[in-house]
Amino acid sequence: MQSFTYDQPATRVIFGVGTFDRLPDEVKRLGAKRALVLSTSEQLKDAEEAVRRLGSLAAGIFSRAVMHVPIETAREARAAAKQHDADCCVAIGGGSTIGLGKAIALESGLAIIAIPTTYAGSEMTPIYGLTEDGVKKTGRDPKVLPKAVIYDPELTLTLPPKIAGPSGMNAIAHCVEGLYAMDGNPLISMLAAEGIRALARSLPRVVEAPADIDARADALYGAWLAGTVLGAVGIGIHHKLCHTLGGTFNLPHAEVHTVILPHAVAFNSKAAPAAMRITAESLGVESAAQGLFDLAVRIEAPVALKDIGMPEDGLERAAELATQNPYTNPRPVDYAGVLALLRNAWSGKRPE
Ligand code: NAD
Repeated sequence: MQSFTYDQPATRVIFGVGTFDRLPDEVKRLGAKRALVLSTSEQLKDAEEAVRRLGSLAAGIFSRAVMHVPIETAREARAAAKQHDADCCVAIGGGSTIGLGKAIALESGLAIIAIPTTYAGSEMTPIYGLTEDGVKKTGRDPKVLPKAVIYDPELTLTLPPKIAGPSGMNAIAHCVEGLYAMDGNPLISMLAAEGIRALARSLPRVVEAPADIDARADALYGAWLAGTVLGAVGIGIHHKLCHTLGGTFNLPHAEVHTVILPHAVAFNSKAAPAAMRITAESLGVESAAQGLFDLAVRIEAPVALKDIGMPEDGLERAAELATQNPYTNPRPVDYAGVLALLRNAWSGKRPE
């Protein structure tokens, strides 16, 4: 049995079909009276539905959330919160919208109620990100952890298969890295294994039958577990590489995770045998790396960096950036090893 320290704040979670209707009660439970609702422009209708449910508890809508939380957007949203005299935020959407809520909370301490509509898992973490002059900086602060999370699978029915699949792979990546994290513990490993099981069984159904509410609920359940894992542990080579590729080469977040994951797992496989065994068992396969690659193929998600906008002549630069600062990972992170990983990921080769 490993030695560990377990010290996690619990987040209030309301899960189930129709739980969106409980939003006003959650705002009142916080003692708040003026909620600013956040969304992307694509999800303005969801924000309007939130306002309809909130009635007099709604202070306004800010619907300009975008990927990677540019500092300019964060400033506009912070100003909107002040202008509307908001005493809490309701973030309805994926990681981008919840990230905007966190940017507001970081400065003002306003409470966030998150209503996730993807599987990214940000709602369960104290991790925030802000992009300034093209550089994305992340940090951890308990202030940005939402006070309550409403998971209503009905809100995910509109998530198109081509976003849902990679988003689910992003969640699986949180679980896998939780299994070999240096600061992991047995409870987090159980959540990670169950998260992988739930996502691996539900994602193919979500993609093949997008209206299947049971599959959507199962995937959202897996996302909750995955987000909890990410919030509790330090990340390794997989998340670091995705961060570098996303930030420097402006590649789409969930798709980068999907492509890199099987290769990051192959990179770590000999150094983290227990994590590999649990991942493979949870996927119901022999090899964790191959199983993850095959799952991505099955859900028609991208498997090659070259197909999601990565220039081949950027691979060396990416390997340099990813090995500049030391970080914990089961296998020591070296330039040659990372470059080989990136070349395999670029071409979309199935790991051996
Ligand atoms: P996203 O939030 O950028 O959403 C992608 C698109 O899908 C958006 O246009 C959004 O409006 C739309 N969408 C979301 N849900 C929908 C639904 N149910 N129906 C129709 N359209 C829907 O994507 P994401 O992958 O959820 O989030 C990515 C961002 O989150 C990245 O910036 C990433 O860094 C961040 N993130 C942060 C953490 C953390 O812990 N801080 C964790 C994971 C991801």
